[in-house]
Amino acid sequence: MSRALPMTEPLPGQPERVTIYEVGPRDGLQNEKAVVPVEVKAEFVRRLLAAGLQTVELTSFVPQRWVPQLGDAEELLDLLGDDGLGQQRPVLVPNERGLDRALERGVTSIAIFGSATETFAERNLNRSVEESVQMFAPVVKRSLDAGAWVRAYVSMCFGDPWEGPVPIPQVVDVCSRLMDLGCDQLSIGDTIGVGTPGHVNRLMDALDEAGIGAEQTAVHFHDTYGQALANTMTAIGRGVRVVDASTGGLGGCPYAKSATGNLATEDLVWALDGLGIEHGADLDRLVGTSTWMAEQLGRPAPSRVVRALAGS
Ligand code: MG
Repeated sequence: MSRALPMTEPLPGQPERVTIYEVGPRDGLQNEKAVVPVEVKAEFVRRLLAAGLQTVELTSFVPQRWVPQLGDAEELLDLLGDDGLGQQRPVLVPNERGLDRALERGVTSIAIFGSATETFAERNLNRSVEESVQMFAPVVKRSLDAGAWVRAYVSMCFGDPWEGPVPIPQVVDVCSRLMDLGCDQLSIGDTIGVGTPGHVNRLMDALDEAGIGAEQTAVHFHDTYGQALANTMTAIGRGVRVVDASTGGLGGCPYAKSATGNLATEDLVWALDGLGIEHGADLDRLVGTSTWMAEQLGRPAPSRVVRALAGS
């Protein structure tokens, strides 16, 4: 018996191609309690690239005491060599010190990580939203001056575990302030997974009215309540062409109750394959990578597609 394939039929108005922005090595691993050996991380990245993923966020140049899991950014880049370089290998930097470390390593693609809410800004960045924008301003300026590409993540764009539903004008205000710094791409994050398609549509409207078009916007949905793919397809229908996903569905949010987190790359690929939208990734190799990674981590991947296809 050959493995199951998605039913294929295009939808009217769909794009020819979508870029998968793979976040597994950074966002996926950062919430793992047991530190994954750097050799395993390098092998993970190489397997993702071999599976055809072109944009892979590698790590974060955070201080080791903040995120012990990602304290090996330099070693990882050393191990990756040429595989870790270029505009399609972004790294997260939390501040100017992180930027210094990244630039010293020849990184040419930078991501910053802001928050739409005051509570999360305080908890995650130890700053108000205003102070965090001030902190990011020189990071973005110096990145652009160095010729780097810059992405601005904004987390808690839908709901916040402490503040509840986040008003759209508040989200748009933070997004606008970060994009006004000169960032190349915005990634709107549903950190606790409470977004639903109608709300995605409304936020896309509001961003568009504020001058942030779908061509500058990526989406980062979490599958905590099973809505990540529905929300992603809504955004694609609105013209979004860059989608964040994590192979196997690795990672989550420490502030969301459930362990399920990022949209699984395999679940996204299955849907894109069904529509005939190009993405460049090989589903079987991704599933193989997730199966291998699950062995390294000692538990199965949350992705439904991986569970359905593994071993088939
Ligand atoms: Mg995430």
